Amino acid sequence: MIYFDYAATTPVDNRVLNAMIPYFRESYGNPSSIHRYGQKAETAVDDAREKVADVLHCRPEEIIFTSCGSESDNLALRGSALARRKTSGEKWILTARNEHHAVSRTAEQLEKEFGFLLEWLDLDEHGAVSPASLSKAIRSDTALASVMYANNEIGTINPIAELAAVARSSNVVFHTDAVQAAAYLDVNVEILGVNLMSLGGHKFYGPKGVGALYVRKGTKLMPHLTGGGQEFGLRAGTQNVPYIVGFAEALRLAAEEREARTAHVRPLRDQIVGRVLEGISDSKLTGHPENRLPNHASFVFKDVDGNLLLQMLDSAGFACSSGSACKTGNPEPSEVITSLGYSRDWALGSLRVTLGVDSTPAHVELFLKTLPGLVEKARSLNQR
Ligand SMILES: *Cc1c(COP(=O)(O)O)cnc(C)c1O
Repeated sequence: MIYFDYAATTPVDNRVLNAMIPYFRESYGNPSSIHRYGQKAETAVDDAREKVADVLHCRPEEIIFTSCGSESDNLALRGSALARRKTSGEKWILTARNEHHAVSRTAEQLEKEFGFLLEWLDLDEHGAVSPASLSKAIRSDTALASVMYANNEIGTINPIAELAAVARSSNVVFHTDAVQAAAYLDVNVEILGVNLMSLGGHKFYGPKGVGALYVRKGTKLMPHLTGGGQEFGLRAGTQNVPYIVGFAEALRLAAEEREARTAHVRPLRDQIVGRVLEGISDSKLTGHPENRLPNHASFVFKDVDGNLLLQMLDSAGFACSSGSACKTGNPEPSEVITSLGYSRDWALGSLRVTLGVDSTPAHVELFLKTLPGLVEKARSLNQR
């Protein structure tokens, strides 16, 4: 079986796992305890926070550890929307229809259940948000804007530094979901200029079930887990020490090895894109042709059932995706693909192929030999 679904999740790096193991059985103290067990655990969390801050070019106290990327998105959106309304009465939230559901569904809940007003930002043909479209949507009472750094389904990279500058000039809190981007793109918040940024460990060879939210000093958030004073009072609950240690080590390695990892996957990805578009009729690349994640290829095939194609690929030994990991039994096309303007006959036939450290030229070659026949077969079944 060949794994081509690194955008859904990645295996834990051995070096990360080795860094985590001592914190399960030897140094298992509660970081809030006074005794030495506690001190050791607290030191591990503090060190992890510093490691993350080094990669992000921020202060350690601007890092909040969470349970996943989704939780970071929830804390960012709900926390800042509620805080802004409380302090200055702002009620508009700006985001895009092609955001991960952790952002878009949270924004919809804030609209439906919490009385906020929601406006969807215009997207261009590649699914990107332009500074002009953000600028146009900002009003005097806009609380926050949330635009993802790189899209998980179509790979498109947004101009985050420019968007954050637009938001800053209008005193709008700016959040970016960098959960997918952090594996390959620079997450220096001095350059990006964002107020809030979400990260998730399992997208860059860290463990599942741990994430972080960068909170720029001075950005107010309503805590969303109340209880103990952990994480500077923003997120109660005993810290998951081994996972936090793993998260920090995985992020450090991602930053250190970014160029090498990019150099490994990019040519393989380019080969997939080139040969699929050339060799398969009625196929199109989704997302931006160049300004996209280097490990990410995504397509639509006309008159193909994307889920059927995924099952056929699975039987042939390839693990791919049709978009977000939330799956099957749902005959509706992905909102990310329809927001690009594709009609139903194209949008239902989406395929995402994402590469990673263990991908090889031989894997790619085998895949490119297998795919055209499967697309043809899926198409013929679709006709009946
Ligand atoms: C995976 C992903 C998430 C969710 O992260 P979890 O850690 O799985 O909760 C959010 N946003 C994007 C862009 C993602 O790719």
